[in-house]
Amino acid sequence: MTQSAPAITPPAPQPESDFYWEKCKAGELWIRRCTVCSRAYFYPRDICPFPDCFARDTEWVQASGRGTLQTFAIVHRAPTPAFRDKVPFITAVVELEEGPRVPTNLVGIEFAEGEIRPAAVQCGMAVAVTFEELTEDISLPMFRPA
Ligand SMILES: [Zn+2]
Repeated sequence: MTQSAPAITPPAPQPESDFYWEKCKAGELWIRRCTVCSRAYFYPRDICPFPDCFARDTEWVQASGRGTLQTFAIVHRAPTPAFRDKVPFITAVVELEEGPRVPTNLVGIEFAEGEIRPAAVQCGMAVAVTFEELTEDISLPMFRPA
């Protein structure tokens, strides 16, 4: 007898991130940018996170959704039962064209039977955002080869 895996706990939206999650649900990636120092950043919050700035004057901007794979790890053993049906999967850090680095998953990679590390996955590869619907309200931004 096989049991289905328990649900993955979704992120809990905060007032500062409600707009971000609404846009993810619509298939768009939006990030915050400081209007004083002009730097974009992730995760979304109202105050510029750079210690030499800390300005409160920030705005939403739509990201292109394009970036490069900075680093990754391939997970073969589920960290919790909720991920039992997901392995193997790839955790990753993607640097967006706009500058911020985003912790995410790399998807759209085929694993051959028994394959540990697909050769197609290389640091520096071009990636593009895609969204995985986790719940009715939460879609997670993930990245696939561009
Ligand atoms: Zn700033």
